[in-house]
Amino acid sequence: KTTRPLSSLPNVNALFGEVRVVRSKQRPRHILVTGGAGFLGSHLCERLLKAGHTVICVDNFSTGLERNIRHLRNFDRFSVLKHDVIHPIDIEVDEIYNLACPASPPHYQADPVHTMKTCVLGALNLLELAARTGARIFQASTSEIYGDPLVHPQVEGYWGNVNSFGPRSCYDEGKRSAETLFFDFNKKHHVEIKVARIFNTYGPHMRPDDGRVVSNFIVQALKGQDITIYGDGSQTRSFCFVNDLIDGFQQLMATEPSFTGPVNLGNPVEFTILELAEMVIQMTGSRSKTIRNPLPTDDPRQRRPDISLAQRELGWQPMVPLATGLEKTIHYFDRLLAEEAHELAE
Ligand code: NAD
Ligand code: UDP
Repeated sequence: KTTRPLSSLPNVNALFGEVRVVRSKQRPRHILVTGGAGFLGSHLCERLLKAGHTVICVDNFSTGLERNIRHLRNFDRFSVLKHDVIHPIDIEVDEIYNLACPASPPHYQADPVHTMKTCVLGALNLLELAARTGARIFQASTSEIYGDPLVHPQVEGYWGNVNSFGPRSCYDEGKRSAETLFFDFNKKHHVEIKVARIFNTYGPHMRPDDGRVVSNFIVQALKGQDITIYGDGSQTRSFCFVNDLIDGFQQLMATEPSFTGPVNLGNPVEFTILELAEMVIQMTGSRSKTIRNPLPTDDPRQRRPDISLAQRELGWQPMVPLATGLEKTIHYFDRLLAEEAHELAE
């Protein structure tokens, strides 16, 4: 095997580039992040710790990785609890970010009943904790709320076009039910809620075997494997870099109690999947070829967020163009794959 010596490789976690630290004007808080060892959750934990807060990461490590949070163990304000959110949890907290849920289609479809439980019972358990502690609670909702949308771009007022019993339903309908619970707890129990509808986001800390399109294409290109285009590649997505999204989380959480969302958070620049494949091939200098695989059932044809509400209420919009974010992500996977190859060779 050809491997580079580990000593020549920068630490993967040093590769995020600039982590934007939002210094809170308020007192440090005790913040619970469910799904904190996952892709988005690990970035959020890092941001909150760097802003001076105490962070409790709750995760069942189904798709999350110890590697994603290893570097955070240096903070004595960081703790990790292995726990499944389908079971109640009782700890003293000031704020909750509910991110626990597999987000990649192959992962959330692997155990659809557990995905539904995670979405619905997870939301219920965390909302009950919020009601008891008075904590403000954030929900990682999703653009999948809109299903295969008939309105384009998607505005928050659109109710969506969702199949209730297809392969994606455990996730889509689970997340829709979770939104319902959030708004009912807000109305009935006056829980302060913040509901973000997240559109396709990518960046460092995705798993190489995550199965979502950006990580698949980059890993395939770096390994010289065929790039798997599902369908004819004319379907569209709008890709947001993780740092931008985490800015949006923090700006949403800092809004007045009267602003609950739901609010779209995503990058409004739309690409076809073929365009994404071409960019990845060109940026990695790969000799990989594209191949066609069947389009998964109920795969949405087009997706682009209307972010006017986020711009108006949060003063937020993404700053990182796709090419810049892809460059950072390719760099991350390049080092990660080299580290993995080195470990295998040892
Ligand atoms: P991810 O799979 O990388 O992270 C999910 C984390 O939740 C993992 O650490 C996993 O182990 C944990 N988890 C899953 N089920 C759990 C359970 N029952 N109990 C405790 N922990 C559990 O996914 P991600 O991309 O980081 O997504 C995070 C959240 O954001 C999810 O709720 C997802 O639905 C939402 N979201 C993400 C995107 C995106 O593009 N990344 C888009 C829309 C919505
Ligand atoms: N996709 C693809 N090749 C892959 C993985 C995904 O062509 O290897 C397509 C998929 O069919 C979808 C789009 O890329 O049209 C985005 O897929 P992803 O799983 O990343 O997110 P989601 O479908 O949940 O938006």
